[in-house]
Amino acid sequence: MNILVIGGGGREHALAWALSKSVRRPLALYCAPGNAGIAEVADCVDIGATDVQALAQFAGEKGIDLTVVGSEAPLAAGLVDEFERRGLKVAGASRAAARLESSKAFAKHFMARHKVPTARYRVVSSPRDAQRVLTSGEFGPEDSSVVVKADGLAAGKGVIVARSRSEASSAVNVLMEGGLVGADAAKRLVLEEALEGREASLLLFADGRDYALMPAARDHKRVGERDTGPNTGGMGAITAPDVLDEEALARAVREIVEPTLEGARADRLDFRGVLFIGLMLTPEGPRVLEYNVRFGDPEAEAILVRLRSDLAEIFEAVARGGLGGVNVEWSDEASACVVLAARGYPEKPETGARIRGLEEASRVPSVQIFHAGTARAADGSYTTAGGRVLGVTATGATLDQALARCYDSASRINWDGVHYRRDIGKF
Ligand code: AMP
Repeated sequence: MNILVIGGGGREHALAWALSKSVRRPLALYCAPGNAGIAEVADCVDIGATDVQALAQFAGEKGIDLTVVGSEAPLAAGLVDEFERRGLKVAGASRAAARLESSKAFAKHFMARHKVPTARYRVVSSPRDAQRVLTSGEFGPEDSSVVVKADGLAAGKGVIVARSRSEASSAVNVLMEGGLVGADAAKRLVLEEALEGREASLLLFADGRDYALMPAARDHKRVGERDTGPNTGGMGAITAPDVLDEEALARAVREIVEPTLEGARADRLDFRGVLFIGLMLTPEGPRVLEYNVRFGDPEAEAILVRLRSDLAEIFEAVARGGLGGVNVEWSDEASACVVLAARGYPEKPETGARIRGLEEASRVPSVQIFHAGTARAADGSYTTAGGRVLGVTATGATLDQALARCYDSASRINWDGVHYRRDIGKF
């Protein structure tokens, strides 16, 4: 079986690592563009993740049987549509289905249409429009919070939780006119009611008909401990039974997962791939904050270390249909991923530092170290090559045990400028 993974971060390392354990033999694994850690389990191919034509040509030439896409950009760019046009099997959302992530306005209208519980919202397309909504009292009095979101893909920078009406007005201006996100992404904004509660991420595999849930996860987006400092791609993630207890899970499945998948069918979105549902667990029940049409990073690392089944077989069923007949089993453990970042991340990460202690760190029991941004020097040593550098991931009988293993392993790794949060999973 020839498999191609698209992307080059910690998430794709976890995907490639899990796929490399498939029982399907002979197995040839490629990753485009990959990274130095991924190169240990796959052949890295120097093609960018959104270079759809070059990727499709490569897949055709190499006789790739299955392509797995890590991030949203290639999906939104229509990679799946192009691969399928060429008769290539691919596990991921079509461009039309990817709009659940690539347009927040589209996602909100979808939820409204299919009665999926979410925050009340308005879509606006000019600062004047926005001011009118903000002063109308629709989202409560002057001093209540409003969330302002850029409609399009914004790499995590497009959401501002404003604590008052005047903060919301500034957020509108910063997004629409301040160049914080791309002009296209902020042509329209979603204004929405601020929800209170704990957050949880519920991910699932879907093949257009059947679905299989993954263990619920929680991530930590802020760079600093106690959730302080700027937002990042993610500094850590955990899975544990109390992220979403049985009752909350049953409710989320009934009120959110099933109406979402039925809605996607009714709208002929033909959702196949990984669906990531960001939830706020409010006192009134679970509410959808966002949909993503792929794994999160570092949620993927924390989730995939618990997979007991064959990921190649699962993705093959996602691509071809038949997921209902595939065993998707998870270990009965907790897990954690702690991201080790470079000095200056997220604003201006330093690269090129020599990483020490990796081998010793990887010998800590039940630990997997996924590379997010590393390169290999001529003498074989690893150097930092991105803001997020490593995802130190572990399983344990309890979350505390998984975390202790992560931190034991992380403490053995060193480079000039390494930093990570010591409070992952703590609140
Ligand atoms: P999103 O990309 O839409 O998930 O937003 C990113 C983050 O902003 C979420 O993980 C929440 O922490 C926060 N957020 C988004 N929407 C809301 C909301 N309606 N109420 C409160 N916080 C929100």
